[in-house]
Amino acid sequence: MKSLNRRTFIKTAALLSSASLAPKSKAIVMNSDQSFTVVIPMPIQVVIDDVGWWSGKDGHENQEPFRTGINRNHVPEDYEAIIHLGKALGIRPQAAMVMCEWDTKNILRDLPHSTWMGKEWNNEKWVGPWLEKTADLLSNNSDHIELTVHGIGHEYWTNGTFTRAEWADMQGVMRPPEHIKKHLDYFGKLLDQHGLGPMPRSFVPTAFRHGFGPTGDHEQSLAAILKQYGIDYINTPFRVMANAGDVQHGLFGIDSGVLTVDRGQDLLTWDTIATPPRGELSGPTCGMHWPNILHTDPGRNHEIVETWIRFLEPYDRSFDTFLAPDSDLFRQQLLHHQLTGIHQRDGRIEFDFSRTDALDYIGERKRFLIKVLSPNALDFQASGMRILAQKAERQENGQVLMTINVERDIAQKTATMVIV
Ligand SMILES: [Zn+2]
Repeated sequence: MKSLNRRTFIKTAALLSSASLAPKSKAIVMNSDQSFTVVIPMPIQVVIDDVGWWSGKDGHENQEPFRTGINRNHVPEDYEAIIHLGKALGIRPQAAMVMCEWDTKNILRDLPHSTWMGKEWNNEKWVGPWLEKTADLLSNNSDHIELTVHGIGHEYWTNGTFTRAEWADMQGVMRPPEHIKKHLDYFGKLLDQHGLGPMPRSFVPTAFRHGFGPTGDHEQSLAAILKQYGIDYINTPFRVMANAGDVQHGLFGIDSGVLTVDRGQDLLTWDTIATPPRGELSGPTCGMHWPNILHTDPGRNHEIVETWIRFLEPYDRSFDTFLAPDSDLFRQQLLHHQLTGIHQRDGRIEFDFSRTDALDYIGERKRFLIKVLSPNALDFQASGMRILAQKAERQENGQVLMTINVERDIAQKTATMVIV
C-alpha cells in the first residue's frame, strides 16, 4: 500500500480543506460516467478600505474621522504592501480610497460637509513629496492595485460635528442627492490633482452605511447616481444594508443596473495591525481595512503581506473558487457562477445563459472561467464561445485540475464544450 509521506499528507490535507472553505457552488456537475467534474467557480476579490489617509489617528472623539486607527502616520511603503500582495498573487487588490488628505489646493473649503474643518479646511500639513512618490507608485503598478471610491472625509459634518457616514446615515438613508453628486465631483478633482484618474468604476460606502434601492424620501437610489459617474459595482456587507431583503440573487443584487455585492464578514477588525489573518472567507469578497495588511514598523510590512499570500493562495488552487485577476473578471464571473446553468448531456457540457442575460445590469457578461477535475488532462472544443486560455495541473491526489478561460459569443443564449 502506498504510504503518504508527511509533507504530501499535509499538502493534500490543506488542499482538501481549502476546497471546502467557500460556500459550495450550485453549478458543480459530474459527467455521467464520472470521468470529469466541472464547475463555474466562485471568484474571490480582495477589497481594502480606508486607503489614502496620511494620518493614522482615530480622531472620532475630537470630531475628526475614525481614519485607520493606528499609532503612526501612513507612508508610501503602506501602498507598496498592497502592490506586493497584488504581484505575488497575480491579482489587482482594490484600494477603497479616502481622498481628503491628498488635497494640495484646499478645494474642500467649498465642500464643508466633507471635513472636520468645514470652510476653514487647511491640508498643508499633508502636502509633501510623499504625495508624488505615492502617485507614481500607483500609476506605475496599476496592474496590481485598483483604486475604488470610498470617500472624501469618510463621515458627514454639520457645523463641526460629524454623523456617520459620508454617503448615508446610520439607517442607510442616502444624504441629499446634490451633496452626493458634489462629493463624487470632488473625489474626481482630487484624483486629477495627482493624475490618478479616470474615475473608478467601483464603490465601497464608508462605515458600510448604504441602502439598496431608494431610501427615505429620495426618488433615486445611490446606485442610480453612481451610475451617472460610470460606477457599475458596489461592494458592501448586506447584514447592515437598508432594504437588504430586496436583493435578488443571494450574493449580489442589481440596483438601477449597478451590481451590488455582499462583502460578508471581514476576518479582522478595522484597526488590527501586525496580525496574520485567521478564519475562513464566507463569500466572494476578502474584505479588510488598510492596517490589516500592515505592520507597526513599515519596514516590516512584507511580513504581514506574506501571511496574506499564504492565506489566499489555497483559494486559487481550490476546485470551486479562484482569485479573480481584476474586478472586471470578478464581476462577470460572479454573474455566471450564480446564474449560468451547466448541464451534462451525452458527454458534452452545455451552458445556459438565459438567466444571466435576463439581468438588468449595465456591465459585461462575456468572459468567465471554468474548472474541470479529471483523472487525466482533457482537450475541449467549444461552440458558442471561444477558449482563450487553459492550463492543467496534477494535484497531489493524482487528479488533474484544468482551468479554462472562455469568452462567449454574446448573441448565443447557450454554448457547448465537448472532449476532443
Ligand atoms: Zn471606511
